[in-house]
Amino acid sequence: MIFTQIVVVGAGPAGLSAAIQLKRSGLEVLVVEKALPGGLISNGWNVENFPGMPPLKGEEVAGRLVEAFDEMRIPFVKDEIIDLSKHEGEWILKSISEEYVSSNVVIAAGTVPIIPNIQGLNDLPAARIHYNVSEMLLTAQRLCIIGASDAAYDQALTLEERGNEVHIVQRSISTALPLLQNEVVRCENIDIHIGIEISGISICDHGKICLRVKGDDNFTMDFAHILLACGRKPSPLYRSEIKQSGIYFCGDIVNGLFRQAGIAAGDGLRTAMKLLRDIGHAPSN
Ligand SMILES: Cc1cc2nc3c(=O)[nH]c(=O)nc-3n(C[C@H](O)[C@H](O)[C@H](O)COP(=O)(O)OP(=O)(O)OC[C@H]3O[C@@H](n4cnc5c(N)ncnc54)[C@H](O)[C@@H]3O)c2cc1C
Repeated sequence: MIFTQIVVVGAGPAGLSAAIQLKRSGLEVLVVEKALPGGLISNGWNVENFPGMPPLKGEEVAGRLVEAFDEMRIPFVKDEIIDLSKHEGEWILKSISEEYVSSNVVIAAGTVPIIPNIQGLNDLPAARIHYNVSEMLLTAQRLCIIGASDAAYDQALTLEERGNEVHIVQRSISTALPLLQNEVVRCENIDIHIGIEISGISICDHGKICLRVKGDDNFTMDFAHILLACGRKPSPLYRSEIKQSGIYFCGDIVNGLFRQAGIAAGDGLRTAMKLLRDIGHAPSN
């Protein structure tokens, strides 16, 4: 069991900024993160809207946030929280092998991908299905992105830059920012397929992933890997019903459609200041 004053779950922009503010206010903070610190912004192709930073690759933005966090020497553990509960005034956060106990917790665990209901998807090898471009260090491959949003178009640009042939498969017209759509249209190695409803997905004889298309049994498309960009929803750690004291949610996990790194970082800061007020600490400047 690990006891600390405050546990922050998640080391994306929200969690990192909350942890920094809590530490600089003199509290004992422990950050628990299941993956590399930096969060979802590591997937961004060109982040132009993070206040105070020039346009940068998402991984560089994440790198700078982590650098600022490292400067503060805040204790950090790589672990995944799978359950949280309150017992005798203390929050207990459980992972598979550890329990973290604190009177206050900040949950900045972001979002998880929405998995589309496509027949056969669950039978495909996990190594060929992806949700984040940051984990796709592939080159010279024929890849498919399913989705029509900012995330689909943004990640298509990264995969194309890595030397891949990218196909965006979408049911209806794109909702991506015009600037992303314009960039995609300019790329020779990105094709957009609009009006495609996928009826099933499987591994075909030659080892490729085959998409079957609704309404045309003879038409299939094959790819080496698939990236699913079909939307995101709050992390399962989010509980709208929790009203007890000592628990705070911040960043994408509670920000609905306002999911941007700058907003998440500001929200982390605001949440830390609210927590400090609630426990009777003088507000810091
Ligand atoms: C492709 C793409 C491009 C984007 N481009 C931009 C852009 O240009 N500009 C912009 O402002 N925003 C952009 N965003 C959005 C931005 O990334 C998010 O708004 C921001 O990262 C949210 O920060 P957060 O800290 O709330 O959550 P996240 O960044 O999602 O961080 C949550 C962290 O919690 C960790 N975690 C989750 N569950 C657990 C658990 N159970 N236990 C321990 N750790 C856990 C995760 O591993 C993650 O590191 C983009 C997003 C994507 C996907």
